[in-house]
Amino acid sequence: MIQAPRGTFDILPESAAQRRVVEEQVEKILGAAGYRRIETPTFEATELFARGVGEATDIVQKEMYTFDDGGGRSLTLRPEITAPICRAYLEHGMHKLAQPVKLWYLSSCFRAEAPQRGRYRQFWQVGAEAIGSSAPETDAELIVLLADLLGALGVKGTRLRLSSLGTPETRSAYREELKDFLRAHEAELSEEVRSRIELNPLRAFDSDDRGTRAVMQDAPLLLDRLDEDDAEHFAQVRALLDDAGVRYELDPTLVRGLDYYTRTVWEFTSDALGSQSGVGGGGRYDGLIELLDGPPTPGVGWAAGIERMLLAAHDLAAPADFVDLYVALAAPEGNRTAFDLARAARRAGLQAQLELAGRSLKGQLKHADRIHARWVAIVGENGVVTLKDMESGDQRDAPVQNVIPTILRGGAAA
Ligand code: AMP
Repeated sequence: MIQAPRGTFDILPESAAQRRVVEEQVEKILGAAGYRRIETPTFEATELFARGVGEATDIVQKEMYTFDDGGGRSLTLRPEITAPICRAYLEHGMHKLAQPVKLWYLSSCFRAEAPQRGRYRQFWQVGAEAIGSSAPETDAELIVLLADLLGALGVKGTRLRLSSLGTPETRSAYREELKDFLRAHEAELSEEVRSRIELNPLRAFDSDDRGTRAVMQDAPLLLDRLDEDDAEHFAQVRALLDDAGVRYELDPTLVRGLDYYTRTVWEFTSDALGSQSGVGGGGRYDGLIELLDGPPTPGVGWAAGIERMLLAAHDLAAPADFVDLYVALAAPEGNRTAFDLARAARRAGLQAQLELAGRSLKGQLKHADRIHARWVAIVGENGVVTLKDMESGDQRDAPVQNVIPTILRGGAAA
């Protein structure tokens, strides 16, 4: 039997209903702050991610689904959506709009990672981006919005880690300092960290290797090297979060998986998840638009994983499906009347279902009960309809044209 590809899953109706709740909350919380929805293509030019995410990142090196489009052009299923949004910002001349341009998305991403609980090869991200503002209020607002979303969804055991990566100049000077430090301790580092000193020294902070961890205790920290402007920007972000009552831990070793971050970076984790504890995170990416050949344009944003939010929210309750009217058949000749009635009911704004399985009348009533139908119209011979109120159990015969008005009146006599 053919099965869904490894690392992918079907979203069955119950789970689709939970996701609708997430989407409604996203729309409400981000919409209230002026963020508007955007949807970009599922695949993009490979170069967008190579440049925008960074050649040295795990994502670009190991995790992209890349293919030739048949015409010699390399395309990639999007592993993340910030670079595509920046591409869209440039392509549609959004720098001419009032800044910042505030956008949100809810779309699937693709990464060829080893599947485990909370880690899939196709997964869904909700995210928000504010492009065109360097104000610390933007960073703080985005963090607060993500905190609000996690709160509204009942995501359990969240912790927020916060740091600042400074500007590219500070960062590259710091990188050199860190590389020197790592080289000086080369013998004590893990093979993997050692092999990546040149390409991605910051990854050393992420290592699980004991020797490496011991070395990193004394490693220089970027937070201690921020220039005055960046330090001031970060202080303001923190003051705004403090005022907003958002609790965070300063984590000078916070490394985000993507290369393009500058200044503020953050990550929410949840104790309710296993090893894949990252629920959502983001940061400022003031250099990204320029990397994509645009004018210097600041930006900041976050992404959160839908599956991980749902896992960490445990049993997010979705409203039960509701059926106003179930149209049952007592005699086969009534089928056209029944069909018309169901259709007219839907046109009148009711949720109406029709018997489609050839059940006995008893079976139909049982089914109507199972799907929690509020009313059942039993269509008999010559178009006679018996309307049954499933709440009170009352039933009465009615001409077919009276059925919908009666339901719309809530059953009261005309
Ligand atoms: P990132 O773009 O790596 O910062 O990821 C943002 C969020 O997306 C993470 O916090 C996770 O919640 C989610 N995420 C990332 N990769 C995966 C994956 N392979 N499977 C499921 N969720 C993921």
